[in-house]
Amino acid sequence: MNKAFVKEPEFDGRAYCPSCGQLGTQVQGVTLDAFLQSQARGDLGQDAWFCGFDRCDVAYFDLFESTVTTGHLVRSVYPMDVQAPICGCFGLKMSDIEADVAEGHPSRLRELSDRSKSEEAHCQTAAADGRCCMQEAQRIYFRLRGGVD
Ligand SMILES: [Zn+2]
Repeated sequence: MNKAFVKEPEFDGRAYCPSCGQLGTQVQGVTLDAFLQSQARGDLGQDAWFCGFDRCDVAYFDLFESTVTTGHLVRSVYPMDVQAPICGCFGLKMSDIEADVAEGHPSRLRELSDRSKSEEAHCQTAAADGRCCMQEAQRIYFRLRGGVD
């Protein structure tokens, strides 16, 4: 049969972790190169997804259900390790956001916001999901602040 007549469902870029079922964040090869131990790097192709579910052992997976667990990363990452920096570029941690909330003024977040727009930011190789952490940091700030009142 001619391939042109085979209708395949169009892939929309969404992939779900084969272990926990959460929607993954697609990452590039450079991110995998930066975070995977070399012997685990070959387990995944160029396209892979990061599982950001804090109670899941899977760090990355691909469409063929190959997975790499957090134990094969070069360092522990947030959110699986809440002590790890939330911001891989500038090292902002949960404790920094807690301090901002305690002071009632998001000075550390503001500084991070400025720096995240600068050329110093290198999220593709510093963040496990290859993305800027600013949205997540703000989400945590508002969540914590909401809990204080
Ligand atoms: Zn998962």
